[in-house]
Amino acid sequence: MIDSAALRARLDDVRERIARAAGRAGRDPAGIRIVAVSKTFPADYVRAAAGAGQLHFGENKVQEALEKMRATSDLAVAWHLVGHLQSNKARKAAAHFDAIHSVDDSALVARLEEAATAASRRLEILVQVDLTGEPTKGGVLPERLAAVLAATHRSSAVRLTGLMLLPPAVADPEASRPHFAALRRLRDDLVAHGEDASTLAQLSMGMSHDFEVAIEEGATMVRVGTAIFGPRGPLPH
Ligand SMILES: *Cc1c(COP(=O)(O)O)cnc(C)c1O
Repeated sequence: MIDSAALRARLDDVRERIARAAGRAGRDPAGIRIVAVSKTFPADYVRAAAGAGQLHFGENKVQEALEKMRATSDLAVAWHLVGHLQSNKARKAAAHFDAIHSVDDSALVARLEEAATAASRRLEILVQVDLTGEPTKGGVLPERLAAVLAATHRSSAVRLTGLMLLPPAVADPEASRPHFAALRRLRDDLVAHGEDASTLAQLSMGMSHDFEVAIEEGATMVRVGTAIFGPRGPLPH
């Protein structure tokens, strides 16, 4: 059974920690969005979090997400795909998600544009950047970023809003700080070289163990799973 009161208390705790981290960085906490990563948790958990005022949810698998979307279709919530998207699932993803954080290929941008246009939908995308050369995590290398950004310039149903980072998994949140800072610098450099600032306003970075550090370094979307929903346990994810 889901303990809605405990979930609400954890969500409140995350909100407070976000507000304190924003305060340390001289930022307005209203500029930081929580994407509650509900992967592996059943739809009841989404419903309970929505009841506590949470509006944005993240999933890492298209099929699992579609089932949860159906089970919660009465709720006014937004869905973010935070995991890798295979191109053969682009059509389904474009038809059902509100935002995709893991775009890392110009052909994928074109497919999403075509699918979103066909479905008469607008789709927010972020480009996932690989700053450490870890091929398992996905993401586009900085030297290939220009081609992906160019593909987004040719899109209209698909709208680029920022960059996403999934740094190497390490226990010490301070170890992630240089990666978060590097993503922000990369964004600032792109804007300094003429990229439209409004297309790179969002920085999706920070998870349960390091979202405060990410906020100190400029995150505008934090993807928080276990700190809100509890441990994921032995389920594959
Ligand atoms: C699972 C996941 C998260 C959330 O991780 P937690 O440690 O549970 O907060 C964030 N981003 C991505 C890409 C994920 O796959």
